[in-house]
Amino acid sequence: MKFDTLIIGGGLAGLVCGIYLQKHGQRCVIVSSGQSALHFSSGSFDLLNYLPDGTPVERPFEVIGALKQQSPRHPYAKLGEDRFKELSNCVVDFLAEAGVQVVGNPEQNHYRVTPMGTLKPTWLTFKEQVVCEQEDKLPWKKIALFNITGFLDFYSRFIIDEFQRLGTECVLHEISFPAVEGLRQNPTEMRSVNIARLFDKQENLDELVRALKTVETDCEVIVLPAIAGLSRDNVLTYLEERVNKKVCLLPTLPPSVPGIRAQQQMRKAFERLGGVYMLGDTVLKADREGNSVVRVYSYNHGDIPFMMKNVVLATGSYFSQGLIAVPDKVYEPVLNLDVDFIANRKEWYDMNVFAPQAYEAFGVKTDDDFRGISQGQVLDNVYVIGSILEGFNAIKQGCGAGVSILSALYVAKRILSK
Ligand SMILES: Cc1cc2nc3c(=O)[nH]c(=O)nc-3n(C[C@H](O)[C@H](O)[C@H](O)COP(=O)(O)OP(=O)(O)OC[C@H]3O[C@@H](n4cnc5c(N)ncnc54)[C@H](O)[C@@H]3O)c2cc1C
Repeated sequence: MKFDTLIIGGGLAGLVCGIYLQKHGQRCVIVSSGQSALHFSSGSFDLLNYLPDGTPVERPFEVIGALKQQSPRHPYAKLGEDRFKELSNCVVDFLAEAGVQVVGNPEQNHYRVTPMGTLKPTWLTFKEQVVCEQEDKLPWKKIALFNITGFLDFYSRFIIDEFQRLGTECVLHEISFPAVEGLRQNPTEMRSVNIARLFDKQENLDELVRALKTVETDCEVIVLPAIAGLSRDNVLTYLEERVNKKVCLLPTLPPSVPGIRAQQQMRKAFERLGGVYMLGDTVLKADREGNSVVRVYSYNHGDIPFMMKNVVLATGSYFSQGLIAVPDKVYEPVLNLDVDFIANRKEWYDMNVFAPQAYEAFGVKTDDDFRGISQGQVLDNVYVIGSILEGFNAIKQGCGAGVSILSALYVAKRILSK
């Protein structure tokens, strides 16, 4: 099996890299074990919400110099200010072409609503979801919040309290109809994705329209949990045209319907461009000749190797098992690349769970071109992208998706320029 580029891991980083490379004429394969962090997405992509010292960031473009001083190995520091700006400026259009519609702008963070109803800064938010320009104000005075009776992954009471604290009146309406009764028989089935599958069917969507219309309300907007639009396009437009009101979605607890939809859309875009996506296979090991990886082996393909000019490692962090932590070390299990971690395990974590945790910033070491390093030697044809990278704390700095997308675009361009 011969390809120009083999991408290991098909989450946000692997898909962005693959789409860019396919679009520019490469023949790529993505091999991916399973679910990615997108399945748990908040519905927003963060670029940079806080500097490593905790300073809040409103305008990411203005702080890359300070970030570089505080965290010289941060992926954004490796990109440098100009590339950081250039790459982040093209992301909205890039994602739209891949079928993922987002709103937002890298020059100024906006605010998204969390599943608890609070507001948090972010960069890009899926188009259907509620976004705010201000950190203490929603864009409406009166909201009608609808939930499906028995859907417990959506905390309406907390949301109403938060919205009222922000000065917006919010009235809850519970709706129930035959299609969801089947799911209600078993509470473990009453999950966002299962409900969304129901609303992918026309007759159930029309039932939802009827339920929304039965409520007399003078609200400016109808807000629903994100339980629609899994595989069907333009669900909100369909609802809005029939109920004659603006309709928005709020994130639920995972699994994330908008995140899974984004993953599906990007996979389709990659395949439409001719890419090969192998889901459910796991890359196990590779053969090297000198400083290049020449053959890669996966679980499903046994001793039949993948052969390629470039390898991109996008296997994610601990969550996706791109990094493995054992008592005395943190290691990268596929290519055995060098990992930056602290030798003394006691320094990995802080007993205060709200403090920054050192282990969050452990990751695979790279040079400034994101090439992987093995026993101190930079590998010529191995690139590393996404949340497996060293030098940043996605949770504390609010930069997870930004690192994945920008490192993926940078590496794709780098490979094409070779
Ligand atoms: C639960 C969770 C929720 C998050 N939510 C957000 C959010 O809402 N907004 C935000 O900005 N950031 C969020 N982040 C940060 C997140 O890391 C990035 O946003 C981004 O999605 C990570 O993408 P990735 O492609 O680097 O890794 P991942 O999404 O982890 O994808 C890695 C993929 O590689 C595959 N893989 C691993 N090992 C192998 C192997 N050996 N062979 C083949 N495939 C393999 C995995 O199965 C997985 O599909 C979240 C992170 C987590 C863990």
